[in-house]
Amino acid sequence: MDIRFYNTLTRRVEVFQPVTPGVVRMYHCGPTVYDYAHIGNFRSFLLGDLLRRFFEFVGFRVDQVMNITDVGHMTEDDRADGGGQDKMELAAQRLKQAKKQGAADVDNPDDPYRVAQFFIEAFLEDAKLLGMKVADEYPQQMPRATENVNRMIEQIGRLIEAGHAYLTDVGAVYYDVASFPDYGKLSGNTDLAQLNAGAGGRVLDEHQQGKRHPADFLLWKHDEKHLMKWDSPWGVGYPGWHIECSAMALGTLGVDTLDIHTGGEDNIFPHHECEIAQATGATGKPFANYWLHARHLFVEGEKMSKSKGNFHTLRDLMQRGVDPAVLRFALLGAPYRQNANFTFKGLEDAEKQVRRLRGIAPPAPQGAGVQMGDSAVERAFADALADDLNISAALGELNKWMGAVHTSTADDAAIVQRIDGVLGVLHAHQSAKPPAAEGPGDAELDALCRQMHQARMNKDYAESDAIRDQLTAAGIEVQISKDRVTWRRKMKLD
Ligand SMILES: [Zn+2]
Repeated sequence: MDIRFYNTLTRRVEVFQPVTPGVVRMYHCGPTVYDYAHIGNFRSFLLGDLLRRFFEFVGFRVDQVMNITDVGHMTEDDRADGGGQDKMELAAQRLKQAKKQGAADVDNPDDPYRVAQFFIEAFLEDAKLLGMKVADEYPQQMPRATENVNRMIEQIGRLIEAGHAYLTDVGAVYYDVASFPDYGKLSGNTDLAQLNAGAGGRVLDEHQQGKRHPADFLLWKHDEKHLMKWDSPWGVGYPGWHIECSAMALGTLGVDTLDIHTGGEDNIFPHHECEIAQATGATGKPFANYWLHARHLFVEGEKMSKSKGNFHTLRDLMQRGVDPAVLRFALLGAPYRQNANFTFKGLEDAEKQVRRLRGIAPPAPQGAGVQMGDSAVERAFADALADDLNISAALGELNKWMGAVHTSTADDAAIVQRIDGVLGVLHAHQSAKPPAAEGPGDAELDALCRQMHQARMNKDYAESDAIRDQLTAAGIEVQISKDRVTWRRKMKLD
């Protein structure tokens, strides 16, 4: 089977050839734990999960790593703009506020490590609910930046030795972009003079004195007063943001060249450009052979923002009764290379699809990777995904097949269970149910449905309608069949 991906590095669709046959080594830029991750972040993270499950489906062994950024950074832009605040400090303030309002319980919000731990736990909880397999492998495959500073220091040392980095008088180590001819190749920002012009109007602050080129980026900052600080050959201080990914990717995967590196399209420049310069500058080898980037997620056609109130997290959506598996399906169902539009209507469609799959097969254990069987639909499903992860076509094949399944057999159920090794939606999460306090409890609903069925049997339609109205008002949908009435909580959507 030929697997093809659009490679941001070459701007072409290319046949995938792993460094080691039968093995895929990949790295994904993971969460910054200054806040809860939102659904736009998860769209990008789920690209990594879909890749992993697809590769396992077609028989590869997958080594997957996703980092956790738990160092409180201030970006160069923040600094240059004169303002700027350490992100972990901001997170601590947010958490203190939430604690006051009783919304978060953290024992010591003044300790940046406790704040990071709080948001890491929240992230892992969300990621597991959304079926991200790498979250089950924390901390081995989800390394924390704060626990890998030694790897970063080592890589910075190699860059200085190789002449790709220099130390300034104020104790900062910068990457010398002019020393790396390929800088800009990934993003297309190949004209350094252009980057120069772009940053030319900006007055460098005291921290940036001694920078040789405005596009040079920070690798280490000497700063005794920083919230989180470590010892280094260049004084007590903290690492730049970009260095953590190249150091953790190579360190955790144990190779010089990865097969695949992914992230959101926002990461292409400068972050991924800097990662390439650091890794290749240190090893002299290509860093990653294929670069895949998830495009933006819009919400109801608009950019997501806290001020517009369309900034959704998994926990917010679950409070409205959304099943995480349904959200997963909705986020995965949009091809990664197109802007996706999250809508509540789309969520309802996803819910129907997931219900249809669950109607054919119960969930199966998925500890190890699930490999495809030899049914025609599985082959068609895999072939579609092999074409640059064409999930629309893959789901189209699945739907075509499901349309022809009338009474599902054990074989059909097994097919759906194997395909679910990729989709990961059969398992419904218990807490997807809205809290019982918000409406009638399950036992009460069962009783009302029995009463309604009895009324219909007695041809007492006034009574039956009255019960139905009562249930509808409580957000419950009823399904009437010849021999019973069943209930279902409607997702609470606007
Ligand atoms: Zn990264």
